Amino acid sequence: MTDHTGVLQELVDGTWREPGSGTQYDIGIKNIVIKESLDGEEAELIAKLYQNKRITIVSDPFTHEAFGQRIFNALSKDNSNQISEFIWKTAQCSDIGVAEVRAATADAQVLIAVGSGTINDSVKYACFLDDKPYSVFATSPMNAFTTGTASVSFDGFKRSISCRGAEGIFFDLSVLSACPPRLISAAFADVICRTTAQVDWLMSHILFDTPYTDTPYTLLAYDEPGMIECADQMLSGDVNALGMLTRISAIMGLGTRFTNTTHSGSMAEHQISHYIDMFAGDRHPRSSHGEQVGVATITMSHLQNSVLNSSTPPLMHATHIPESSLLQRFGSKISDNMIEQTKIKALTEKSADALNLRFADDWDSIRSTLGAVMLPYKELRSSMQAAGCQITATDLELDKDFYLEAVQGARFIRDRFSMLDIVDDSAGLESITASLPV
Ligand SMILES: [Zn+2]
Repeated sequence: MTDHTGVLQELVDGTWREPGSGTQYDIGIKNIVIKESLDGEEAELIAKLYQNKRITIVSDPFTHEAFGQRIFNALSKDNSNQISEFIWKTAQCSDIGVAEVRAATADAQVLIAVGSGTINDSVKYACFLDDKPYSVFATSPMNAFTTGTASVSFDGFKRSISCRGAEGIFFDLSVLSACPPRLISAAFADVICRTTAQVDWLMSHILFDTPYTDTPYTLLAYDEPGMIECADQMLSGDVNALGMLTRISAIMGLGTRFTNTTHSGSMAEHQISHYIDMFAGDRHPRSSHGEQVGVATITMSHLQNSVLNSSTPPLMHATHIPESSLLQRFGSKISDNMIEQTKIKALTEKSADALNLRFADDWDSIRSTLGAVMLPYKELRSSMQAAGCQITATDLELDKDFYLEAVQGARFIRDRFSMLDIVDDSAGLESITASLPV
C-alpha cells in the first residue's frame, strides 16, 4: 500500500537535515506512519513498540466502529490475554472524563487511543498523569496527534496542558477518508493558518527582535502549495490530497518541538478562537477549534493583506489599554491578566515614535519580507472555500456582534504582538472591523 509518510519518516529517523544549516533534530516520537491502508499491519506496528505489555485500546462507540474493532481484533489475535478494550460511551475531554479513562484502564501498562481530538487528548493526559506510554491510531487528520499538549476542560474552562506526546502515531488514509467532512475541512483550516501565524510571528521578530525560527515553515512548505492546489479534492476522498493534508497537519503539530513555543502555528487567529471559547458562553455555536481558527484566519489575512499591500505605512500611537471596560466586561481576575499580558507588548509614546521612524525608512522592505511569506487573501479564501471550510462568523452560526467583539478583544488575551496590535494602535480595530466581511 502506498506510503505517504514522506519527510516525517526522516524526522522520526533523525536524518532530516535543515537546508542551509544542516541541523538535525530529535523530534522525540518513535514512529509515524501514513499509509493508504494499514490493514494487516496494526499488530506489527504495536509489537515494534511494546513487547509483553498489558495494553488497553480506548475508543468511543463511533471510532470503535470505524477503526477500534479492527485494531482490537488484530492485536488480540495472537495475544488475547494481554489486550483489552475500553469503549468510552460518555467521551469528553474534561477533568471528570480523564478520571473515567484512568479508572477504566488502571490495569493496563500501555494505552492505545483510537480516535480524534477527544479520545487522543484524554488518553494523552491520562497517560501523562499515570506515567504510562501511549500510541494512537487516528480517525481524522489533525495537528493534535503530534503535539505534546492536551486541551482539557476543567470546570468548563479549557486549558492547554504540557504532557508527554504519543510514541507511535498511525494514520490509515482509508479510515480518514470516511471521517465526517467537517473534520477534514477543520484540519485544512488549522494548517492553512500557517500564513497568518507566520506573518505575525515574523513581524514581531522584525520589529522587536523577539525569537523566531523558520524550521517549521521550511517543513510545511514541502506540501503547502500542493495542498492548496488539491483543496477541492480534500472532501472527495482523493488519497493523495488527504495524504498531503495528514502530513502537513502532523508537521504543524511538531512546530513546538522545534521552537519550544506554539508561536509558529498560533498567533492572532488562534487568539480570536480562544476568545470565542472563553467568552461566548451561551452564544457558543459548538463550532470546533479548526473551524473557528479558519474564520479568524480569513479575518487576519484580510487585515494583514490590507496593511501590507499599502505603500503608506500605518501611523502608530501609544497603546491604550481600556482597563475600566475590561474590568467591567470580564471581572478583576481575567482583566488583571489581560492588562498584564498587554503591558508586555504595549507601545509607549516613545516606542510608537521609533516605529514610525522605522516605517518611514524601511516600510517597503518590511512589507516585502512579510509579503514573501503571506498568502494573497483571495488565494487563501478560495482554497478554504474549495476545501469546504466555513469562511465567516455567519457560516459558524456565531453572533456577528460577538465575533467583532472577539476580533477587537483578542489582542488583550496574550502578549503576542500581531497585526491586531498594529491596526488597533494606528487606525483602530473598531473602524476597520465595520468593513470586515463577517
Ligand atoms: Zn490550532
